[in-house]
Amino acid sequence: MRKPPPPKPDAPPKAKRSNTQARGACACGAVRFEIDVPAVWAWHDHSVASRRAQGCAYATYVGSWKSRFRLLEGEGAIGRWEDVEAATTRSFCVRCGTPLFYERARSPKMINIPRPLFETRTGREPRYHMHLDQAADWTWRGEALGPLKGYPGVMWQKPRRAKRTLEPDLI
Ligand SMILES: [Zn+2]
Repeated sequence: MRKPPPPKPDAPPKAKRSNTQARGACACGAVRFEIDVPAVWAWHDHSVASRRAQGCAYATYVGSWKSRFRLLEGEGAIGRWEDVEAATTRSFCVRCGTPLFYERARSPKMINIPRPLFETRTGREPRYHMHLDQAADWTWRGEALGPLKGYPGVMWQKPRRAKRTLEPDLI
């Protein structure tokens, strides 16, 4: 059985709230939150900093006004890392390690939340790409794949044909 929803201490007056919320949680469930729908926007972040912080090819974030964001549970389970040079703060669940919130000094009213943490739709599709110039050259970009013989369920990208001259990055 699901637990009843916890109280919302920071809930704005009813009139200001959206009728619809999108809820999210970390992998272990210690940290739970919600935003009012629709979010401001959503985008794919190809920067080196986000790739490392999240351990993925690129991060997909949903941006929400902080005034439309509410932490429902788990304040004590949130660890924070401030990157002074980049003027960003990234938080994570200290129990399961899930990356949580990404805040930037240049947008102090905005909180960015990894899209995979949401259980429901957020009202915004991630149609924007930032820092593509920093994208990893090993990121899969939809190239054609075929089944790998002898390994059911494994798809692979066939290597390109050998070239007569070596490309600079192969030398
Ligand atoms: Zn967790």
